[in-house]
Parts: sequence; structure tokens; C-alpha cells
Amino acid sequence: MLNVLETNTEFSLYPLPAFNDNYIWVLQHNRQAIVVDPGQAQPVLEFLAQQQLELTALLITHHHGDHVGGVRTLKQHYPHATVYGPKHEDIPCKDVALNESDTLQLPGWPISFTVLDVPGHTLGHIAYFLEFTGDTAVLFCGDTLFSVGCGRLFEGTPTQMVESLGKLTALPAHTLVCAAHEYTLSNIAWALQVEPHNSDLHTRQQQAMQQRQRGLPTLPTRMADELASNPFLRAHVPNVAQAARQYAQRPLNNVVEVFACLREWKNNS
Ligand code: ZN
Ligand code: FE
Repeated sequence: MLNVLETNTEFSLYPLPAFNDNYIWVLQHNRQAIVVDPGQAQPVLEFLAQQQLELTALLITHHHGDHVGGVRTLKQHYPHATVYGPKHEDIPCKDVALNESDTLQLPGWPISFTVLDVPGHTLGHIAYFLEFTGDTAVLFCGDTLFSVGCGRLFEGTPTQMVESLGKLTALPAHTLVCAAHEYTLSNIAWALQVEPHNSDLHTRQQQAMQQRQRGLPTLPTRMADELASNPFLRAHVPNVAQAARQYAQRPLNNVVEVFACLREWKNNS
């Protein structure tokens, strides 16, 4: 299993594949593990047993089944694990309810987590941000921000999602974006319709194709790379707005309207 935090000696970070295209993120420190959005219990149970880890906490971003389906079983196997989840959503076995600006300090963990409210995909969706010493920061953003994409608006409005994405892009450029799905290649294929001449997109497509051919995840990505190539974070860029107007065949008067058009375009693609 690949540790994506190889520059840090105190922590390891692993994307466990689940279902067709989900990742369950596992952060390890000493013999303890924090697990994010376990849609399935089995891959987590196997990994914890194999690595001989104790489960300290489950961090949940939102209520969808592919993010919470494994919670009950994990809690049965590890009754001392604390389940953290959004205040405004029903989460199985939730022990601690979180919302904007809460900070989490887990016993035995030399690091704290900041919580961000990011409504849009669902209304109560939260994200977890953690900054390590040095130049490492990690964002667990569930289905809000993807590599070259963003979550569908199942519950929220375009205005809410634009605001939520704005909170995420305000994080440090070196932040590692740990999204919950492997959608990179299909997202890039669509993004190239929006920005056919974006050289960062072409570079990322080459990289992602090689990674997938070798069976590797394309995540995490860096916030800086998302800013350079994710159309949903680029509604303010003239080329992107122009492409959206072309698609909509009508004037789009602000960033929210451009974003909403991009979201619709992607839904229909
Ligand atoms: Zn979801
Ligand atoms: Fe999901």
C-alpha cells in the first residue's frame, strides 16, 4: 500500500480503494489510525489488521452511503473509536458533532484538525483540514472538491458551492487534496472541452494516464494544481467564462452563473 506522505516521518497517509471508485483515507501515527469516510468496513478492517493498527477515530464528511456504510461495523470492532461527523446531518454512531471553525485535538495525536462547513453537495457537508510541521497540509474534502472536478449539487445551490469551494481554495497552495473518488481521467476529458489550450490540463492528463496504467491513485492532488486546471475553480477566468457562455448560448453575468452553467454542462456530458 502506497504512503502518499513519504516526506513526513511521523505520519503516513493511505488511500484505500473501495467500491468502484471511492477512496477511504487512512492517516497513521505510531500504531494508531484515523479513517475518513469508510463507505465499506472490509477494506479498512483488512488494512488495520495487516498493519496492526488501533482505530482512534472516524472522520465523516457527509451522510451519503458510500461514505458512512462501514461505520457501524467498524464501531462494533473498535468500540473505543470516536465517530466525528457534521452537526447538521444524520450520521450512524456519531459521537461528536462538528461545524465551522471547530478544532479537533485527538488524544495521542500531535496535530489538530480544523473543520470547514462546505455546503453544496449536501447541506451539512464538512471538510477536515490539518497542517503538519514543515510544508505539509492535508484536506479531507469528501465529495466537495475532486481532482479537476467538484461534487454534484444534490442539496445545495450554486451560490453555496461557490462559497464552499472558495473556502477550500483559500487554504495553502501546497495543501494535499484528499478527495473521496477517483474521477480524475473523466474529469480531465471534460475539462479539456472547456479549456482545450490549458497546458496544465494536458500535463495532468499524461500523468494521470500513466498512474492509472500502473494501478496507482491519481490522488491526492495539490491545491495549486487544482487552481491551475480545475474548471470549477476557474469560473472567473475569461476563457472559462467564454466557453460556458458558448455552451449556454446566453449571457452569464457573474461567477455563480458561470459556475452553475459549468456544473450543468458536466452533468450532461
Ligand atoms: Zn456524496
Ligand atoms: Fe461519494
